[in-house]
Amino acid sequence: MKEETTAKLENLNTLNKKDLIRSAKTFSKQYRVGDGEKFKLKEYSTKPSIDLDASDKPLTKQALQLGVDALAALQETLYAQDKWSLLVIFQAMDAAGKDGAIKHVMSGVNPQGCQVSSFKAPSAEDLDHDFLWRCQKHLPERGRIGIFNRSYYEEVLVVRVHEQILKSQKLPPKLVTDDIWKSRFKDIRNFEKYLTRNGTIIIKIFLNVSKDEQKKRFIERVDDPDKNWKFSASDARERSYWDDYMHAYEEMIQHTSTEDSPWYVVPADNKAYARIAVASAIIHALDKMKLEYPKVSKEKIEELNGIKKALLAE
Ligand code: ATP
Ligand code: MG
Repeated sequence: MKEETTAKLENLNTLNKKDLIRSAKTFSKQYRVGDGEKFKLKEYSTKPSIDLDASDKPLTKQALQLGVDALAALQETLYAQDKWSLLVIFQAMDAAGKDGAIKHVMSGVNPQGCQVSSFKAPSAEDLDHDFLWRCQKHLPERGRIGIFNRSYYEEVLVVRVHEQILKSQKLPPKLVTDDIWKSRFKDIRNFEKYLTRNGTIIIKIFLNVSKDEQKKRFIERVDDPDKNWKFSASDARERSYWDDYMHAYEEMIQHTSTEDSPWYVVPADNKAYARIAVASAIIHALDKMKLEYPKVSKEKIEELNGIKKALLAE
């Protein structure tokens, strides 16, 4: 089993770019939920499908680096072509590794072509608007990759788990009915369909961490002074609503995963593995756009050659 894992990783590290893109597609496919109708969270493991341990660190690091390079090359073409944009949404329980995944996976991308937006509790100004408003302002421009660290999906997660938050949203009481979550799912689906039709492709990543692994990481955040800042009593409080969150996540994915804007349920108990899975999903989404550098006309090439000739003659 262990030899098999090492062989798999070694093989990955020998692939050329084209084969790497192909393997990113196959690899990420196992975590991709297309149409969410029959989605069951318990069918998705929080553990990697291969037997990884500390000895695999150099190989996993190398594999991630290959993914990061491929992603960076695709992003250059996305930027040059300036037609499509990609929105990658991250949702997860605390300490599942959102920040680390964003940092490592996007590490090779030209900062000019990428925007990261984090969504915390809404401001008074946000609450004076519809729930999509604050996110809409941060959608990626054509040619860019937008990363949402949390998103409008909090509106069917934290807001659903704590109904007093819904009460603070200043909605006209008549509109707050038992159907509110179904209505929000529908609004989100329609919004994403609208964006897709306008050239913004959306993929959504749920970093699926286990309750045990979260406990381990919380304890690390208490024990390690450099990690203290990442931890708060409210994180521990949210943990006590674990089952409510899992229920909310499951229904959210059932209602909002579609072939066009799928959810990826990525096993997050091993950080390195999760990052490779996230990179693979993004590579696949970009590859599907069939990106190309803009074609230059014959006249333009002649003009460029003329300029080169003049420069050489200087
Ligand atoms: P970390 O993983 O490092 O803790 P974080 O994303 O959890 O990062 P925090 O500052 O801890 O960042 O908290 C953000 C909080 O804001 C989360 O608890 C989240 O549920 C909450 N939040 C986000 N969007 C909304 C919303 N629309 N309504 C209410 N709360 C929200
Ligand atoms: Mg937090």
